[in-house]
Amino acid sequence: MVLERIARLEPETVPILDSLGCVLASDVVSDIDVSPFDNSAMDGYAVQAADTGGATDECPVVLRVVDHVAAGFMPKVAVGRGEASRIMTGAPVPDGADAIVMVEHTQALEEGGSTGGTVAVRRAATAGDHIRRAGEDVRVGELVLRAGEVVNAASIGLMAAVGTPAPRVYRRPRVAIVSTGDELVEVDTVPGPGQIRNSNSYSLAAQVLAAGGVPHILGIARDNEADTRALLGRAPEFDLMVTTGGVSMGDFDVVKTVLEQIGELDFWKVAMRPGAPQTYGTIGGTPFFGLPGNPTSTMVGFELFVRPAIRKMRGFADLDRPRVLAILAEDVRKKSDRRYFMRGVLTRVEGAAPGAPAHEARLSGNQSSAMLSSMHRANCLISLPEGLSSVVAGSVVECIRLDQEEGAP
Ligand code: AMP
Ligand code: MG
Repeated sequence: MVLERIARLEPETVPILDSLGCVLASDVVSDIDVSPFDNSAMDGYAVQAADTGGATDECPVVLRVVDHVAAGFMPKVAVGRGEASRIMTGAPVPDGADAIVMVEHTQALEEGGSTGGTVAVRRAATAGDHIRRAGEDVRVGELVLRAGEVVNAASIGLMAAVGTPAPRVYRRPRVAIVSTGDELVEVDTVPGPGQIRNSNSYSLAAQVLAAGGVPHILGIARDNEADTRALLGRAPEFDLMVTTGGVSMGDFDVVKTVLEQIGELDFWKVAMRPGAPQTYGTIGGTPFFGLPGNPTSTMVGFELFVRPAIRKMRGFADLDRPRVLAILAEDVRKKSDRRYFMRGVLTRVEGAAPGAPAHEARLSGNQSSAMLSSMHRANCLISLPEGLSSVVAGSVVECIRLDQEEGAP
């Protein structure tokens, strides 16, 4: 339901390095041949291969050195019969030369092999040896990267090589984060009586960053309508808003009330644990996620509902984390009316039978939704479907990998 309501954001042009991890909105076409000219793949001597026929260690061919070509400079003279030019890796191949002999297969006889001296060539060369041809990597006008591709480090290098210093990519959503609760104090404060630190704003902001969004922590709304309205009312300044707390059955849970006043409520409550009181709606057209306040409910709700939405906004085709089947290592009890996402540790089993799951999953600790330490230890969510009231050790279960990005093997 959520993803049906989320649209891809518009493309923008960004400095090349900022495109890392983004989805390209336009094809990238090369403005030049890469490399733009024939060049040497080795430090050595540019020669006419025909001159080196039969050359060996015992019977080298001696050539006159007529030039010294460094990378970044053009040859001053052509290589004629009986001649060679000292040449460095990446330097343009001189006219007349059709092969490079590696310096390891030569011996400079006078003046260090520089111009004016001679060189003994100890190997026969074949035309084309160690010459990188113009356009061998990429041709001018060639389509190098396609719209829809995710930019990685090699794409960045390619774009740099083909004259695309500012690619077009789908924009990162600006995500507003609001925590609610009279009990919350900022993280640089020691909590007083009845107070706790606002950890959710930070775990959420980190999840937004990791998902490629731009987090904006708007602060803490106290548990009253006026305060909550003031912060929720800012949703239209952003592409997406996420709140934590204030969506359960408590006397002061006003988020849903305010959402209905200033926006539209799409749904409330999902048959899941942790975090049943998941809320979704819009405020002034901005998608709004009201996540429950318990620290792990917040993080799991983000993982399952918000992260795919952020990825859809960013233009990704793959929205979900990789899933893997695993053998459950211990008995688990659950309520049958809801799906459980249990914090788990997934490990590889060596020597699993062919066709059997190659992973084992066990719980990472206390599954209370208020406990963050077991979330910290987890590398997966073990997904146990509604309808079951217990799952015994040895069952095959589906695990959502929290330690792998979409598209991972
Ligand atoms: P609520 O959903 O508002 O009833 O909150 C559920 C539980 O989560 C309560 O124990 C809250 O104190 C706690 N909680 C709510 N917001 C936060 C927050 N921002 N950081 C840490 N814990 C929170
Ligand atoms: Mg609360």
